[in-house]
Amino acid sequence: QVKRESKNGWRHYRPGMNEEARTRLQLASGLRGALGRDEFQVHYQPQVDLESGEVRCLEALLRWFPAGGEVVSPAQFIPAAEASGLIISIGQWVLDTACAQLAVWRKDGFPGLRIAVNVSPVQFARPDFVEVVQVALDRAGLEAGALELELTERGVLADLPGVLEQFRALRRLGVQIALDDFGAGEAHLGRLLHLPFDVLKLDRNLIVTLDEQPEAQRFMSALQVFASSLDLELVAEGIETPAQLEAVRTLGCHRAQGYLLGRPVAVWPSPDEE
Ligand code: C2E
Ligand code: MG
Ligand code: MG
Ligand code: MG
Repeated sequence: QVKRESKNGWRHYRPGMNEEARTRLQLASGLRGALGRDEFQVHYQPQVDLESGEVRCLEALLRWFPAGGEVVSPAQFIPAAEASGLIISIGQWVLDTACAQLAVWRKDGFPGLRIAVNVSPVQFARPDFVEVVQVALDRAGLEAGALELELTERGVLADLPGVLEQFRALRRLGVQIALDDFGAGEAHLGRLLHLPFDVLKLDRNLIVTLDEQPEAQRFMSALQVFASSLDLELVAEGIETPAQLEAVRTLGCHRAQGYLLGRPVAVWPSPDEE
């Protein structure tokens, strides 16, 4: 519950107002202009290639630091940004920033490094999305293979013909597409399989079952067979313990990501400060 009153649009609790709707409105009003006030940062979390042990890809994770406030989690503000349409400009900024940062790292001696960027269904549904991606790549001087886009099933289950067309256009461009949070929702497998994903990201909820439930290992090895028959790369997210890391390695995952291997971190100096 937010108690502070400020220019960001935070308000005192008003009883009677639907809590979720109220929070969303407050967030949306704070988010408006946040880009112009330079309140966002992109943090980066490594994904370790389990065969070589090298970091070959990083996931870009958005952070919001409202003036005078505490950092707000994307899980909180992304829904508000989507509802207000602000996600379009914010998402474009994330793409531009992450691509620019990757170009700096590549120049600094990590030539093969890649970047994974989360994409909202609201962004993805826009007819000009492919162009936005192309522009971000061109500005940074990157080839399309440098970029992986992470989509959740929420984003790809509506309007299948439109979504398929968008996938095809992105594949023609040459970017990779990952299905994020696999195993967290009620995956509509029949429809998901129609879509040409390159990568399947196993949700943390699946990973933690590896510790507790013996049958989870069998489920995961079936999943590995399934993924490899579809030529999908498997990424395990939310790895927190050495036992989980060992389990996903044994189960044939290609990459692992999680606090055990590295937390999301800010980059300093940022590309435009250099
Ligand atoms: P996600 O894409 O599934 O990202 C992984 C989330 O898990 C991140 O949370 C990351 O910090 C967290 N995480 C990583 N390793 C571990 C671990 O070992 N244990 C635990 N408990 N958590 C771990 P974060 O950064 O708070 O982001 C939450 C979600 O917000 C993301 O989930 C993604 O769906 C969304 N998001 C983040 N950045 C963006 C963005 O730029 N655009 C859009 N549209 N969504 C974003
Ligand atoms: Mg993600
Ligand atoms: Mg995820
Ligand atoms: Mg997740």
